[in-house]
Amino acid sequence: MAGIDLKAFLLKEIASGMASTFRMMFRPKATLNYPYEKGPLSPRFRGEHALRRYPNGEERCIACKLCEATCPAEAITIESEPRDDGSRRTTRYDIDMTKCIYCGLCEEACPVDAIVEGPNYEFATETREELMYSKEKLLENGDRWEAVLARRLELDAPYR
Ligand code: SF4
Ligand code: SF4
Repeated sequence: MAGIDLKAFLLKEIASGMASTFRMMFRPKATLNYPYEKGPLSPRFRGEHALRRYPNGEERCIACKLCEATCPAEAITIESEPRDDGSRRTTRYDIDMTKCIYCGLCEEACPVDAIVEGPNYEFATETREELMYSKEKLLENGDRWEAVLARRLELDAPYR
């Protein structure tokens, strides 16, 4: 058939596309029905921040300010005072989450595993103000996620 593209005449591309679709119908689905289904997360996933406590309820943070110094986005603001017993603790620990770039350096710098980035990535807000995290908010996060946070640190410990 001179002058006629045989491939187009026989609808070869369409047939091959349909065959590909048919093959895929029987493979496991790659998509997830989020938010009802969620994919696995690495223990190193860097999500929302939390401040942790010791099992007796005492704050881990000793106000050394290493996290504040290392933060490349200057997102952390810390103020501290000595307590009556001579120990040093923060009176203010704020993170401006709109500045944070989730680099994880604060967590790496912390000598007592106080500030950590947890697995939570569902903390979108409607206002910027809600992303100005206070010490209370960060400690609340720590209390809520402690079991998961401790497990993540344990899994990652051999690689630190
Ligand atoms: S994750 Fe990085 S940018 Fe965010 S607060 Fe920690 S050090 Fe700063
Ligand atoms: S969170 Fe860790 S690094 Fe930051 S001030 Fe507290 S103890 Fe120091």
